[in-house]
Amino acid sequence: MDGMNEIRAVNGMLLSLVIPVYNEEQNIAPLVARLQQVLAPIGCDYEVLFCMDPCTDGTEREILAARAKDPRIGLITFSRRFGQPAAVLAGIAYCRGDACVVIDADLQDPPELIADMVAAWRDGYDVVYAQRETREGETQIKKAVCAVGYWLLNRMSDVRIPRNTGDFRLMSRRVIDQLNQLHEREGFLRGMVAYVGFSQKALLYHRDARAGGAGKYNRFLGSLTIALNGFIGFSKYPLHLISILGLIISAASLTLGAVYLAIKLLIAAGVITWEIKWGNPTLVILISLLSGVQLLSLGIMGQYMARMYDDIKQRPAYIVREAHLPAGRGG
Ligand code: UDP
Ligand code: MG
Repeated sequence: MDGMNEIRAVNGMLLSLVIPVYNEEQNIAPLVARLQQVLAPIGCDYEVLFCMDPCTDGTEREILAARAKDPRIGLITFSRRFGQPAAVLAGIAYCRGDACVVIDADLQDPPELIADMVAAWRDGYDVVYAQRETREGETQIKKAVCAVGYWLLNRMSDVRIPRNTGDFRLMSRRVIDQLNQLHEREGFLRGMVAYVGFSQKALLYHRDARAGGAGKYNRFLGSLTIALNGFIGFSKYPLHLISILGLIISAASLTLGAVYLAIKLLIAAGVITWEIKWGNPTLVILISLLSGVQLLSLGIMGQYMARMYDDIKQRPAYIVREAHLPAGRGG
């Protein structure tokens, strides 16, 4: 964990921390304290940018109190709850650092890793992502589903998305600038960063349990939505798949027709006397199978269409209500 002596030439650099927050009242003060502890010895300037969905608890008060003590802390609030991915997009758009680190507010991402990220950045890496070494407190089924999901995602998508990673990562200014050009509304950061490319390095870490409060997502549906965003947003493979499926089914039905005709002809010629029984069950099964395949194909096309629809409307990923930018360079 101790990468302190490797850090070179960070003086004069500005590091931005982008933190999506939603109802994290209890976590703000401990988070800020731990960040300050970690950032002080690194030796570069920093700014902390909280990107906050409107909260029902005292999160905003806590952040503003921290800002009163340390003007390098900034706060962006949104007009409504746009969700964590949008908050991260906003943070990346507003931050002014030579590099930025995206980190959760609940202390699940250990701030101590930031020192190692900065060290790798100074070694020339543009993206330093944290990769979970362990997935504790998760069932075997969840782990298996995740493993299959990542395998499929990497087989099917145009980019390679490292497994067991979240948004916790450092990105250099040129990566940030490219991300800001992407105009992606879904905010699937892992995919966007993989798409942008540049030199990337993984740091293994142990993900802690949430410090206080409760998780904000429906675990299952949340993971499913994220996986779907990955598939649809970064792969055209599902579309190829349904074309191939169509070809296979057409070929199979032609073959079946030929077999059927051959049997009829052979019977007429008196070569064979038996006939295959094509009863109602066969019909029912075939019809329902084919309807299923057709609906599935339509659904897949619909997923792409829905995203095109959203893109065409050109609605922003988030709407900022207020921006209290951190004091400092250019501010
Ligand atoms: N978050 C947010 N908006 C939301 C939900 C969550 O900004 O609508 C923030 C939350 O405060 C936390 C981070 O996103 O800092 C990750 O949320 P959470 O810990 O609930 O997710 P998990 O750790 O389960 O992925
Ligand atoms: Mg969390």
